[in-house]
Amino acid sequence: MVAVSAASLRGQLQQQVSMGGYTSWRVGGPARCLYRPVDVDDLMVFLGALPEDEPLFWLGLGSNLLVRDGGIGGTVIAVAGALNRIERRSATTVWVEAGVPCAKLAKFCAREGLQGVEFMAGIPGTVGGALAMNAGAFGSETWERVTAVETVAVGGGRHRRWPQEYQIGYREVYRPEGEWFVAAELRLTQGDSQTAQQQIRHLLRHRNSCQPTQQPSAGSVFRNPPNDKAGRLIEACGLKGVAVGGAQVSEKHANFIVNTGDASAADIERLIQLVTETVARQKEVTLVPEVHIVGELA
Ligand SMILES: Cc1cc2nc3c(=O)[nH]c(=O)nc-3n(C[C@H](O)[C@H](O)[C@H](O)COP(=O)(O)OP(=O)(O)OC[C@H]3O[C@@H](n4cnc5c(N)ncnc54)[C@H](O)[C@@H]3O)c2cc1C
Repeated sequence: MVAVSAASLRGQLQQQVSMGGYTSWRVGGPARCLYRPVDVDDLMVFLGALPEDEPLFWLGLGSNLLVRDGGIGGTVIAVAGALNRIERRSATTVWVEAGVPCAKLAKFCAREGLQGVEFMAGIPGTVGGALAMNAGAFGSETWERVTAVETVAVGGGRHRRWPQEYQIGYREVYRPEGEWFVAAELRLTQGDSQTAQQQIRHLLRHRNSCQPTQQPSAGSVFRNPPNDKAGRLIEACGLKGVAVGGAQVSEKHANFIVNTGDASAADIERLIQLVTETVARQKEVTLVPEVHIVGELA
């Protein structure tokens, strides 16, 4: 139980919250505490009141997360749907809070006749998650558009930071420890609203045709190794359709693992292990997970 004065908080503090309801794989044990702030000021009050040694975990829409069945022995900060503001700040600049879904940002920009983040329409995470992961698709990446970010830190610090302060790579971003994203400023290209909306429809159709978008998953499980595709290697090893418990390598896209209904996090993690070992043995390539695996074993 986190000792924070409830009177000073406007958000929702819950105990023992099953993470299965907060991850796109629909699995995961309980978080000891989960806080949903109302806005950044409320979040600052909460962070300022936490014991210094309280383990914190930041959650977006849980679309790149495997939370183990033993859950998370600390406090989860859930910002999706909370830090939800988005504003056009100039002819080519948009300011967006970390809890805004990527799809909402893509549609907002398209409506405004701003181009450059259409690729985000099919990424089922938040802007905060996209910043943390440098999410990307169809040859574009989140940080190509970032001109500044706003962050908060344990103990109550707030910063405005610039891209050169981060080490940004393929699906990874190194940031100052104990600091999280609460907003970003993006530079877009002035374009045509209809063209942007058409592009979004086209990209979504393409996704639906080649990804198992109707089943619980976390998107691509493994990073693509240099000059190759993880999905191609997994398929070439004959692993499509292979299952452990309720977890299955998708028949539609071999780099996706789907929950067929009753998977546990342990099933998914064992299948990740099986795929890794098989590809290493047959293809001599070490696949590295893109999904973040967190929490305790049951
Ligand atoms: C069907 C499907 C398709 C997908 N397609 C793509 C794709 O095309 N391209 C792609 O890149 N990804 C894709 N993904 C993966 C996922 O959507 C992205 O990685 C997304 O950016 C994760 O955002 P999230 O809000 O869900 O983050 P979460 O899964 O909640 O968190 C991911 C990591 O980011 C950290 N984090 C979250 N918010 C913050 C914050 N505000 N500050 C600091 N750290 C934070 C978390 O602690 C965690 O370590 C797909 C997933 C699915 C299910």
